[in-house]
Amino acid sequence: MTAGPANPKASASPKASVSTETMEEGDRIAALSLEDKVRLLTGADSWRTHGAGRLGLRPMITSDGPAGVRGITLDDRNPSASFPCPSALGATWDSELVLELATALGTEARSKGVDILLAPTINLMRTPLGGRGFECFSEDPVLTARIAVAYVQGVQSAGVAATVKHYVGNDSETQRWSYDARIAEHVLRELYLVPFEACVREADTGLVMAAYNAVNGSRMTEHAVLLRDVLKGEWGFTGVVVSDWEAARSTVPAATAGLDLAMPGPGSPWGEALVRAVREGAVAEKMIDDKVLRLMRVARRLGAVGQPAASAPARPGRDGAVPAGMSPDGVSPDGVSPDGAGLAGTSPDGTSPDGAGLAGASPAGDRTPAPSGSLRADPRLLRRAAAASFVLLRNVRDALPVDPGGISRVALIGPNAAHPVIQGGGSAGVIPVTVSTPAGALAHALAGRASVTMTPGCQTWATVPQPAAGSVCDPVTGERGVRLEFRSADGTLLAAEHRNSTLSAWWGEGLPPGVGWGESGTISLLTSFRADTAGPHAIGAAGVGRLTLTVDGAVIADGETPVPADPVETMTRPGEVRSTITLAAGQEAVVRLDFRPGAGAEGPLAIRLGIVAAPDEEAMLDEAVHAAGAADVAVVVVGSAETTESEGFDRQTLALPGRQDELVQRVSAVNARTVVVVNSGMPVLMPWADQAAAVIYAWLPGQAMGEALADVLLGQAEPGGRLPVTIPADEADCPVLHAVPRDGQLGYHEGLLIGYRGYDAAGTTPQFPFGHGLGYTSWAYESLSADLADLPAGEDLGLRVSVRNAGPRPGREVVQVYVAGPRHGPGRPVRVLGAFGSAAAAPGETVEVALRVPARVFAVYDAKAGGWTWPRGAFTIEVGRSSRDLRLSAAVMSG
Ligand code: BGC
Repeated sequence: MTAGPANPKASASPKASVSTETMEEGDRIAALSLEDKVRLLTGADSWRTHGAGRLGLRPMITSDGPAGVRGITLDDRNPSASFPCPSALGATWDSELVLELATALGTEARSKGVDILLAPTINLMRTPLGGRGFECFSEDPVLTARIAVAYVQGVQSAGVAATVKHYVGNDSETQRWSYDARIAEHVLRELYLVPFEACVREADTGLVMAAYNAVNGSRMTEHAVLLRDVLKGEWGFTGVVVSDWEAARSTVPAATAGLDLAMPGPGSPWGEALVRAVREGAVAEKMIDDKVLRLMRVARRLGAVGQPAASAPARPGRDGAVPAGMSPDGVSPDGVSPDGAGLAGTSPDGTSPDGAGLAGASPAGDRTPAPSGSLRADPRLLRRAAAASFVLLRNVRDALPVDPGGISRVALIGPNAAHPVIQGGGSAGVIPVTVSTPAGALAHALAGRASVTMTPGCQTWATVPQPAAGSVCDPVTGERGVRLEFRSADGTLLAAEHRNSTLSAWWGEGLPPGVGWGESGTISLLTSFRADTAGPHAIGAAGVGRLTLTVDGAVIADGETPVPADPVETMTRPGEVRSTITLAAGQEAVVRLDFRPGAGAEGPLAIRLGIVAAPDEEAMLDEAVHAAGAADVAVVVVGSAETTESEGFDRQTLALPGRQDELVQRVSAVNARTVVVVNSGMPVLMPWADQAAAVIYAWLPGQAMGEALADVLLGQAEPGGRLPVTIPADEADCPVLHAVPRDGQLGYHEGLLIGYRGYDAAGTTPQFPFGHGLGYTSWAYESLSADLADLPAGEDLGLRVSVRNAGPRPGREVVQVYVAGPRHGPGRPVRVLGAFGSAAAAPGETVEVALRVPARVFAVYDAKAGGWTWPRGAFTIEVGRSSRDLRLSAAVMSG
């Protein structure tokens, strides 16, 4: 047994970026007044940091998020490219593709004036019920780390800083603001910290976000061991630790533990209280200087630092001198920079005089949003990526791909076929530029070749769905959409605007004064709805506060909805008042929704109107079954409803919402070529899996869903994904299911045995194992050779694997390497993922894949000794197509 450093390959010495600092900069920081330094350490508002003219620092703009960059407003007039959700990115097992996607994401962020992207989320999928599981890459730390490093590198290559989040133990949502995760140290080290460490050491992430929760008794924003000792000390992190939004809840403990930036602002527990704490000696001023220096380091890498205005005289209590034409914040006084694209300190051509962009970045400049609009990701890239993430779980009797020449009738069925869920709820949500639905895309792809019928089969919504875009129009202008009016308490019209959507949200920007949480002003949504079909229609108004619904002048619903437990739920699942109206086909109804935001609520403010023809579920099911019986192929698109998967709450069940299981079973019974497409970001139960001819897992695939699905169904693209998470046969089989804290504590009692490690340890057969995915060809595993049979402690292991495309189509194989035993005590996994790589080959072609299993995979963390050890023992290297389909093995001694 040999003890070794945390990572023998990496030193904890500061990164190269530090070399761009000068003594002068340290001096300049030290010369600022304490007030001015402390001011920089809390946000200026919801999304911006403060600037400081005397440092040449302009404000920086932060924005979510992982699956598209929102910008600082959530506004349908400023849409964003909608990317496949992170679990879909994990399913690609393809770092190169993720690098390409993240570069596009960073480029869009930059074009929107964003400096700091609040992504990626690199927590692990500890439980399949985790509300934000779709925002994570995988249940495995090695897969998560590889995808995360590529993601951070891609974002930062575009000159935008990435923020890895949520450090650490934020693996579920129930009581996320307060729970205390009790996690053994070796479990933290071997599982939950792995992706964070990789993003610091290998990708040089600009920021790390400290989570809301506590770990082992200390809030993460106050966790001196994990922030100061491990992250900054041991791993050598030189960037900024930013709080999750409102997670900074103390002055001295947070400041001394290593938190650098409290967001949002302008209020925070820092400010004057921190100034006082420094004056009283509770916080050393050099700690404050270090925080500012870290902020400057990130800013410098983004080109947010220019020439300091050092020559002008300082004004006490303020930033001091300010460059000509700039406010102390670095925002020009004429207010031209609503997006925060202040130019303080940039040279006249807009480039940073320091020229210190992120590695590989284009020349750093200001963040004025591109005048011609955002530089959004190429839709073809999004389409290719979605197809590459789809996992073909089952394919019997060559159900897929479908040859359009061999069929004349396709029955497209399912609630998500016409209304897919392309993204999860919460801060990861964006207003997509466009949405390609399975119904639209398949009909288009088969036009002139086969007929496509569309029947929803059942309904799954929990909140009345928004009406189709074409069915509502602004009663004043006649334009498609709605009119919003903002009024003061006495009814005075403060502002009015047109919106395309019946859902609007404000996240710290865009509301007139006097309208907001606890204010007396109101928001009214007015629209004219045209019914497509005759009969009863459900109508619902959602928002937190007082809601009054009026149709053709008569009040039909009125009520006050409660303040939810988690602030983000004000947007993701606010309360609703509902009623039913009966309309004739073609009838127009003038709808008015008056909303007074509630007192005591916080978080994003949202208002939403839903209208939908009230369903007769028996008739819907019968119609779908009838259509399936008459078709050559039935494609059933099932999955989450709009509010099933979201930040702010965990799911209660793995079952598909509504009567979708029954729908699939009945359709499969009448059509032997039934293809089921699951549109969920995390696992669902599939009690019908053996009855369907084919099953595709499509995740929450972003705006390109329909096109990518048509490509895959018709064989234009291979469903290239492999499961990044185990799909259970039964809820009871999950190593961790409900993550509900007890008396505020959340015990991680399963230790190392999450995901496939838990299934292997219990000997349980999952519905579909981790790593599984068929693609459209078959693969023969021909040979495996290891560079060494006796591996010294602390050494990586090189491997070569030969695979042959044994099927009829070109394809891409994900070659997975697992490392098994010795167990070294109870609670140790049977096998763990060690490495993966890919092979693309034509039919009959053999490809050799070179792989490297990192030394750490052979190590255990010895908490008593405070380091990694490499116990001597015989390991089995297993190579195959999934954690349960292992084709080749080799023996290696290590330690
Ligand atoms: C989320 C973060 C997010 C932040 C800003 C928080 O509630 O946990 O992931 O970046 O809000 O939207």
